[in-house]
Amino acid sequence: MPSLIPLGPKWSHLSPAKFIVSASDTRFDRQIRFAAMGEQGQARLQSARVLLVGTGALGGVLAQNLVRAGVGELILCDRDIVELSNLPRQVLFEDRHAAAKIPKATAALETLARIGGPTKLRAEACHVDAENLPELADGVQLVLDGTDNLATRYLINDWCVAEDTPWVYGGVVGSGGLVLPILPGQSACLRCIFPDPPPAGSLPTCDSAGVIAPAVGTIASMQAGAALRILSSARGKGTAESPTHAPGMTPKLLQIDVWTGSLLTVDATRRPGCPTCDEGNFEFLHAAATRDPVVLCGRNTVQISGGPTKPDLGAIAQRSAAFADDVQNLGVLLRITDSGIVLTLFPDGRALVEGTDEVDRARALYDRYLGA
Ligand SMILES: [Zn+2]
Repeated sequence: MPSLIPLGPKWSHLSPAKFIVSASDTRFDRQIRFAAMGEQGQARLQSARVLLVGTGALGGVLAQNLVRAGVGELILCDRDIVELSNLPRQVLFEDRHAAAKIPKATAALETLARIGGPTKLRAEACHVDAENLPELADGVQLVLDGTDNLATRYLINDWCVAEDTPWVYGGVVGSGGLVLPILPGQSACLRCIFPDPPPAGSLPTCDSAGVIAPAVGTIASMQAGAALRILSSARGKGTAESPTHAPGMTPKLLQIDVWTGSLLTVDATRRPGCPTCDEGNFEFLHAAATRDPVVLCGRNTVQISGGPTKPDLGAIAQRSAAFADDVQNLGVLLRITDSGIVLTLFPDGRALVEGTDEVDRARALYDRYLGA
């Protein structure tokens, strides 16, 4: 078959080995040619570590953008498992992941690893809370919000402002959503704009209002654009570079709707009296990590946190076989079916109870099998 690009004598001397090196060198050629990024920006990006909280809808697009761009290290956290209803918009997952009901963080890592490139990937199938966030975010240059709940976002905001680390908020429901890059000390934090979390159940969710993939892709792409700019820009502390995050960047709150085509931009200036970035009150970070059950958005599922000791999954599998409808010991997970409800138990004692949104019912089932 003739090549579309004529290879004249100039190229014929190249050995295959040299071609491989050359191909490797060109991976990031187009984004290095983008003047605002350049070689220096690419080098900064490739030395950066990023924490991504949530690898589903927004998180999947974010992760793919960052890995394809060549970020140095990406830590993937997600507490959930892959479901069939995720597939229309959660780009890292496939039918086989949903059929096997594997943790989203694990499935995300598998898909991202196949892209190749220099990014070091780490998957953590865990619920991010005030107890484990400092360890998960240790040494990161940026935190990305791919979560589906406000409690985690207020926690991320506290940690990032306290640690002077940028983060990018994103939220999507129906056909639109919000994006807000947050540069601590320079621009509004989450609580400058939304001082307190609204009462539970007062906002539409993907459960009540649904969600479509173009809205997810648009919001996540705006987040990813901000992320690339922050990571490829000078990061001041401890360097001889500009002592600011992302010099020249003026974060704004964006509200986008892909159905109506509307776009609203609101200045994101810091608010005097903000409890977090003005008064240094990090109440979400300093609150004891809650062990209360959590009803997951749109999943007819309740999450129960584990206790201080890790369970013996093998022993529970043996004991449960006598009275459960079905027990599957998958090594890293234990799946128990009881009266149409499926309990997925993780090694840290955390469980997802699928088939109910009643906290008491889920808690009772958990206690039945863990003997708590
Ligand atoms: Zn603030």
